[in-house]
Amino acid sequence: MHELSICQSLIESIEDAAREHAFSKVSRVTLEIGAFAGVEIEALKFSFDVAGRDTLCEGASLVIHAMPGMGYCFECSSAVEIEDRLSPCPKCGSAKVQATGGDQLKIKDLEVV
Ligand SMILES: [Zn+2]
Repeated sequence: MHELSICQSLIESIEDAAREHAFSKVSRVTLEIGAFAGVEIEALKFSFDVAGRDTLCEGASLVIHAMPGMGYCFECSSAVEIEDRLSPCPKCGSAKVQATGGDQLKIKDLEVV
């Protein structure tokens, strides 16, 4: 499962941070996930519990900030929020929209014990 491998690499980077900053237990992980990241939020939460077993993330709560997809419309020169990469411009209806943001998947905050 795609989400499981995402969680495993997230936990690995948290373990790296734990070594660097000398903490041994995480109580809350806040993630920022863009609309284009291709991640199923419910599956990610489930996978986080599974992947977190016997790690410093065991029992940690997962908070997810879903970020909107962003694009730039060349027709009306505006930065706009779009639902998916191929959405037309919500302002003028043009299809000349380039996705500029929304594929991020990153750890925004860690609450450690
Ligand atoms: Zn437009």
